[in-house]
Amino acid sequence: MKFIDAHCHLNSRSKAKMELALERGAAFVSINTDIPFFEPLAAQESVVLDLKQAYPDQVRYMGSFESKGFGSASWQTKTLDRIKQTVDNGASGIKIWKNFGMAIKDDTGQFVMVDDERLDPVFDFMAQNGLPMIGHIGEPKNCWLPLEEMTVDSDRRYFSNHSDYHMYLHPEYPSYQAHIDARDAVLSKHPSLIFVGAHLGSLEWNLDEVALRLDKFPNFHTDLAERVCHVQLQSIADREKVRQFFIKYQDRIIYGSDVIDFNYRTEHQVASRFEFLWDYHLKYFGSSEILTAEEFEGSFQGLDLPQEVIQKIFITNAANIYGFKI
Ligand SMILES: [Zn+2]
Repeated sequence: MKFIDAHCHLNSRSKAKMELALERGAAFVSINTDIPFFEPLAAQESVVLDLKQAYPDQVRYMGSFESKGFGSASWQTKTLDRIKQTVDNGASGIKIWKNFGMAIKDDTGQFVMVDDERLDPVFDFMAQNGLPMIGHIGEPKNCWLPLEEMTVDSDRRYFSNHSDYHMYLHPEYPSYQAHIDARDAVLSKHPSLIFVGAHLGSLEWNLDEVALRLDKFPNFHTDLAERVCHVQLQSIADREKVRQFFIKYQDRIIYGSDVIDFNYRTEHQVASRFEFLWDYHLKYFGSSEILTAEEFEGSFQGLDLPQEVIQKIFITNAANIYGFKI
C-alpha cells in the first residue's frame, strides 16, 4: 500500500476512483455523515458496503447516526442499536457531526452541544469497545468572520453557498470557542475514547492550538481533511515551525483529502480530483518544491518531511485507527 486517503466521502458506486486506487496503491476511508444534502445514512452505508465488498483491501468506512429525534425517550436506545448494527455491518467506527452545536435544539430552544450528557452513552459505548470516533465539531474560525475577512477561498466559497452554517450571519448561535470547549469537555470526560478531530479539530488557524490538545489528550488524533491550505498558509509565516509540528506529532496526524464523490459530472472527474489532490499534497509534505495553492495567493515551500513521517501520516496512523492490514 502506498497511502490511505483517510477522510473522503464515497457517495457513489462509480468505478473510476476505485481503479485509480488500485493503480496507485491507495485506499479510502469513507466518512458517512448525517448531513442534510447527502443521501440518508442507510443509503450512504449501502453504497460503501458494496464498494467494500468489491474492493476489500481498498475501503474502510466510518458509520454515523441520526441526530433527528434527539432528546426523545427512544432516541438513545435507537441510536445505540443503530451504532451496534453499523459496527456489525463492518464500520471501523462512528462519525459525529457539527449538527451537535449548530442545528439541534432542546425543548427550551437551547442548542445541544457535543458535551450534552445525553450523548454520553454513545461515547461510553465507543470507548468501552475500543472503537474510534471521528468528530467534525464546530467550523473553521473563518466561519465567524465576514466573507472578505476569511483567510482562504475554500471557506469563502463554502460559507457563501451554505449561509445556514455561516456563523458570522448568526450571532445568536454558539460561539467558535463554545464548540471547541464542548469538544474538549468530551475528551476530558472520556479519556479512553479514541477520537479523531476531523479538519485539524477545527483548530486549523493555529497549529499551536492543535498541539495543545494533542499534548493534553493522549487518545486525541487529528486529520488534515480539507484543511491543508490552512497549514500551507501558516508555513508561509514559519515553515520550520510547521515542519516541527508534523515531526513532533507524527503518530497522531492522519491524511485525508475530503473529496466528496457527489455532484461530479462524470466518474472520471471524481477520480481526477482524487489524483490531483493526492499528488499535490504528497508534494507539499514530501518535497521542498515551491508551490502555490488554489485557496490563497502567494507561494510557499514544501515541508520535505522525513520519509518515516510521511509513512505514518499517509499510511500507518490511518491503518491503526481504521483497521487496514498493511
Ligand atoms: Zn468530510
